[in-house]
Amino acid sequence: MQDQPDAYQEIRAAVHALSSEYPDAYFRKLDEQRAYPEAIVKALTDAGWLAAMIPVEYGGSGLGVTEASVIMEEINRAGANAAACHGQMYNMGTLLRHGSEQQKQYYLPKIAAGELRLQAMGVTEPNTGTDTTKIKTTAVRKGDRYVINGQKVWISRVNHSELMLLLVRTTPLAEVRKKSDGLSVLLVDIRQAREQGMTVQPIANMINQDSNELFFDNLEIPVDNLIGVEGQGFKYILDGLNAERILIAALVVHPTRH
Ligand SMILES: Cc1cc2nc3c(=O)[nH]c(=O)nc-3n(C[C@H](O)[C@H](O)[C@H](O)COP(=O)(O)OP(=O)(O)OC[C@H]3O[C@@H](n4cnc5c(N)ncnc54)[C@H](O)[C@@H]3O)c2cc1C
Repeated sequence: MQDQPDAYQEIRAAVHALSSEYPDAYFRKLDEQRAYPEAIVKALTDAGWLAAMIPVEYGGSGLGVTEASVIMEEINRAGANAAACHGQMYNMGTLLRHGSEQQKQYYLPKIAAGELRLQAMGVTEPNTGTDTTKIKTTAVRKGDRYVINGQKVWISRVNHSELMLLLVRTTPLAEVRKKSDGLSVLLVDIRQAREQGMTVQPIANMINQDSNELFFDNLEIPVDNLIGVEGQGFKYILDGLNAERILIAALVVHPTRH
């Protein structure tokens, strides 16, 4: 526990106690096997901690990014690794802020309960990292579907998520007024996508992080899975990334020891 008490002692104590049940040895063993810490992620989900920022009416606790940061901090302070599951806390923010009421009512309670994990976000591409507006993955509307073609790289937790936010270009760069226009966010059901044109290729790396390259070959996504307004997705992704950066900053205050 921290030296100076703050207003979040109850949260700190509860998260610390739960996380302490998964000591270094638990994580070391999983890291050797390059396996996912299912048990602690389930325990944190069941206790409601990963649904902290989901509003109460959708099954969460309705807390803010400060409380969520405290949760991240305490998981790592106890010696566990919050990096395995922070995505479940913030990715839903894009859906919460910009999704339709129907999408929110369908997905958010399931995300809060851990029935669906929305831990993946597909933005980066092999030749387009920081310069996001240059992404080349396209979605072309055909009737009630978008047809996706392209490639993503370094996409985390795809193998531990049922859902993924995917940033695509829906209007060619040459046809938009501002380069950040014409990008859209689609909610992808990873289980269906794997059967219908998305290939997931794991990337070998030096940490126990589920990183992947994704290939899209005429993957069809229902237009109902568009989040918000077509062409405005860049802003929606930034909204989610703001919370991501804050939560990651909180967890790296106490780097994992194992
Ligand atoms: C472990 C890991 C997990 C990741 N998980 C995900 C994920 O889940 N989803 C996802 O979409 N992406 C993910 N990424 C990708 C990550 O977000 C990108 O690496 C990041 O956006 C940077 O892109 P890049 O690697 O292509 O670097 P580049 O864009 O090539 O940048 C390289 C360096 O150049 C600097 N630079 C770039 N452009 C400029 C400029 N104009 N002026 C000055 N400096 C500049 C950058 O700051 C950086 O230091 C992950 C990466 C890692 C390593």
